[in-house]
Amino acid sequence: MIIDLHCHTTCSDGTLTPKELIQLAKAKKISVISITDHDTVDGLEEGKKEADKLGITFLNGIELAGSFKNEEEIHILGYDFEINEELLNTLSFMVKERVKRNQKMIKLFQENEINITLEDLEAISGKKIISRAHFAEVLTSKGYTKSREEAFKKYLNPGCPTYIPRQYFTPKQCIDIIHKANGKAVLAHPTLYNLGFEEIKNLIIDLKEKGLDGVEVKHSTYSYEQEAFLTNFVKKQSLILTGGSDFHGSIKKGLSLGSGYGTLVVPYRFYESLIRKK
Ligand code: AMP
Ligand code: MN
Ligand code: MN
Ligand code: MN
Repeated sequence: MIIDLHCHTTCSDGTLTPKELIQLAKAKKISVISITDHDTVDGLEEGKKEADKLGITFLNGIELAGSFKNEEEIHILGYDFEINEELLNTLSFMVKERVKRNQKMIKLFQENEINITLEDLEAISGKKIISRAHFAEVLTSKGYTKSREEAFKKYLNPGCPTYIPRQYFTPKQCIDIIHKANGKAVLAHPTLYNLGFEEIKNLIIDLKEKGLDGVEVKHSTYSYEQEAFLTNFVKKQSLILTGGSDFHGSIKKGLSLGSGYGTLVVPYRFYESLIRKK
C-alpha cells in the first residue's frame, strides 16, 4: 500500500488544488494521504471530501514554520488534529502578521523606486498566503530581476534593504498549537537545516523534551545514509516515524506524489503508529 504524508496544494505553494491532488493520488493508487500546506488548513475540507468520494484515507495535516537560530526556520508537521476555533484563530493571527509585513515591504520597494503593488502580488497568489516567493515572481516578471534566485539575492534575503523578517512561532509554540487541537507534532525533514548528524540528534532531543511526537524519517531529498541515520536514531528515542514526498506539483520538477524522485516508499505502518491513540 502506498501512502504519502507530506504534500502541498494551491492553498499554500503547490500547483494542484486539493481536489486535483486527491484525484492524482487515486490515479497513483495511493491509499492514505495527508495534505500538509504551510501555515493553513484551508485545503483540508475539500481534500477530505474528495478523498471520501474516491475511497482514500485522509489525514488532516499542516506544516508550521518555527523560528530557528537567526532568521532560519524549522518546520513542524501536525497530523490528525481537530480544526477547532482556537486553531483557526491562531493561524489567522499569523496571516494578519504577514499582511502587515507585506505592506512594509511594498513600502520599502516603492521608496527604492521599484514598483510592486499589493494588486500585483494578489494577482499571482490567488487564495494563497503571500510570501517572499511571490515578491520574487513579481520582481522577475516586471523585469527588475532576471530570475527568482537573483530576486532573493538582491532584494529578499535577510540583510537586503528591502527585507523585513516575518513573525514566527517558536518550535515549542508550534508543538503546543498542534497538541491543543489533539494532533501529533512531527519534525519535518531535519536534514534540511544545515546541521550535522550530531546537531540533528541534539535538535530532536531538545524538541522531544518540548513534547515532539515524531520525526519525518522518509523524504524525497534524503540519501540512503541520511534515512538510515534518522530511522535508527528516531527508533531509539521511541518517537513516531513518518514520511512523505513533499510534493508541490509542477514547481518541483521530477518530484512525484507518493514516490518522490522515484525511490521513496513510505510504509503503511507509519500511518498506523501515527493514528494509534496513547
Ligand atoms: P516567507 O515565508 O514570506 O519569508 O517566504 C518564504 C518563501 O520563500 C518560501 O516559499 C521559500 O521557498 C522561498 N525562499 C526563501 N529563500 C529563498 C531563496 N534563497 N531562493 C528561493 N526561494 C526562497
Ligand atoms: Mn513549500
Ligand atoms: Mn518544509
Ligand atoms: Mn513541505
